[in-house]
Amino acid sequence: MTDIPRLRPDLHGVPAYRAGARVRHATLPSYSLASNEVPYGPLPGVAEAVRERLPHLCRYPDPAASELSNALADRLGVGVDELTLGTGSVAVCQQVVMAACSPGDEVVYAWRSFEAYPIVTRLVSAQSIQVPLLPDARHDLAAMAAAVSDRTRVVFVCTPNNPTGPAVTHDELVEFLDRIPRDVLVVVDEAYFEFGLADDGHEALDGVALSRGRPNVMVLRTFSKAYGLAGLRVGYGVASPVVAAAMRKTAIPFGVSALAQVAAIASLDQQDELRKRVTRVRIERDRVVDRVRQLGYDVPDTGANFYWVPLGHATEAFAHACRDSGVTVRAFADEGVRITVGEPDANDIVLRLLADWT
Ligand SMILES: *Cc1c(COP(=O)(O)O)cnc(C)c1O
Repeated sequence: MTDIPRLRPDLHGVPAYRAGARVRHATLPSYSLASNEVPYGPLPGVAEAVRERLPHLCRYPDPAASELSNALADRLGVGVDELTLGTGSVAVCQQVVMAACSPGDEVVYAWRSFEAYPIVTRLVSAQSIQVPLLPDARHDLAAMAAAVSDRTRVVFVCTPNNPTGPAVTHDELVEFLDRIPRDVLVVVDEAYFEFGLADDGHEALDGVALSRGRPNVMVLRTFSKAYGLAGLRVGYGVASPVVAAAMRKTAIPFGVSALAQVAAIASLDQQDELRKRVTRVRIERDRVVDRVRQLGYDVPDTGANFYWVPLGHATEAFAHACRDSGVTVRAFADEGVRITVGEPDANDIVLRLLADWT
């Protein structure tokens, strides 16, 4: 007998989530380019909506988030019964594997990709099947399709891929889906979807549209990135009614707070402002990425608000140099850095450091 409580022995195998660091420099202005947040704050009207809700914080939120669900269903052209909400789409990732996987089942995803996938997979004692990215940092969809076995219950497709940037195209995804058995759930993680919205309303890959008539396809989106609500924690999944119902069972009751619900509703009303900010991010991103490439770095295409610089063994040292200049970036040891497109001043600091580094 010891006085240490007995915990799950296999927790040792669960990797810890490494959040982007936030460091305040002693003398210089400090910037976080480590978590893919937008630098602008919430959209117009959102802070007011949140403030109006404050006197009612003694009340539980609507457990079904009906008003938000209705607003989303309208926007997306889907049924309310096809939606599931969570405390950020990372929670919805977890709901998916909890709803689909028993111990020993397999979850297929590209690697390197979003670091929550191995965590949520391990937490339900399922098995990760990681399929290496192609040399240009895109998903190897042919290899992923080939990796699907009788034990596979979930396949994550992250587009644009965090942390490397490339998006899967519409045609690539259709071809892929045609190769996947109809009883395997394909989860298209579109956390950065809104950054693909162009001014003229033309949209590239739209997982929700593609999921129509394909009950084994579901889509994850979030209010954390382009909508600027990372601090409130709200994301959602769009799935066939049967899958959505299963996922609502695995959600934590009252998970999405009252403040998150009103903020998300107010945000959905601001599509013009959303497009303006997305355009701003894209223009700045293209300026920065062009420059980084001119400096000789092999930056993969990116459809999101971040870019990947493959620095190999120099990765950690470069991240330190950034920190010494007041900027945090996300380092993946011996692989590369993922750098968020932030305030132009912050981006310029990184550009100067990259120029000195070559
Ligand atoms: C940021 C991110 C998410 C989810 O973020 P939440 O804040 O939990 O909504 C999901 N997938 C990917 C790939 C991300 O980068």
